[in-house]
Amino acid sequence: MDKRIVLLGPPGAGKGTLARRLAEEMSVPHVATGDMLRAEVAEGTELGRRAKQIMDSGELVPHEIVVEMAIERLGRADAATGWILDGFPRDVEQAVDFERRFDSAVPDVCLYMKVDTGEIIRRITGRRVCPRGHVYHVESNPPRKEGICDEDGLALTQRDDDTEHVVAKRLEVYQEEIGPLVDHYDELGVLRRLDASGDTESVQTRALGIVSQ
Ligand code: ADP
Ligand code: AMP
Repeated sequence: MDKRIVLLGPPGAGKGTLARRLAEEMSVPHVATGDMLRAEVAEGTELGRRAKQIMDSGELVPHEIVVEMAIERLGRADAATGWILDGFPRDVEQAVDFERRFDSAVPDVCLYMKVDTGEIIRRITGRRVCPRGHVYHVESNPPRKEGICDEDGLALTQRDDDTEHVVAKRLEVYQEEIGPLVDHYDELGVLRRLDASGDTESVQTRALGIVSQ
């Protein structure tokens, strides 16, 4: 089975949800630059303070920071046999730099997740997260006790960047970057389109069908 996978898709498409499931199924790490940046913010590091302002505006954090972060994470022992990348690369510049600086940066498969806009908005507005990053949805994946994380009992909140105004900006940034990025992976011969509508089980089954081909 292919074990180096890049997930592309709009904010709220379900990349993190699918990545966690694939990572578990395939015993490889789920590497999400957004999660790594939010961890820096939570720890109050200098990098986190810089990143927070940019993330709350819906823009992309500077290239050097995220490429460095991803390469450092993928260089660790647990990523030697594979990885699921979620939210990185975000544009062609990041992809090219990643390929220049990291051996085997070209994935076996790049899954391009397609979901219609109404569903993206429904998924983002219903998303709830705990401070440690566990993700729920008020309708499609509610916690057992309303507003409380099943895993660690902490209060669930909305992400600071899941407000209407910031989501609009994030979607705009995504639309600007996705075309060239998709073309890039298509030219490398690894692009596969994934229908990401329907429940999480169906999406996972479709994704596993593609990566095990
Ligand atoms: P992304 O990482 O692409 O931003 P998430 O994985 O955080 O997206 O998913 C966004 C929201 O949609 C979360 O609340 C998640 O629980 C929910 N979700 C994810 N996949 C599905 C799905 N297939 N059907 C319904 N809701 C989903
Ligand atoms: P995400 O968790 O993928 O939705 O990302 C949340 C925010 O983190 C984005 O809106 C960006 O500000 C920042 N971010 C995450 N990944 C990247 C990346 N690869 N390049 C630049 N910014 C990123």
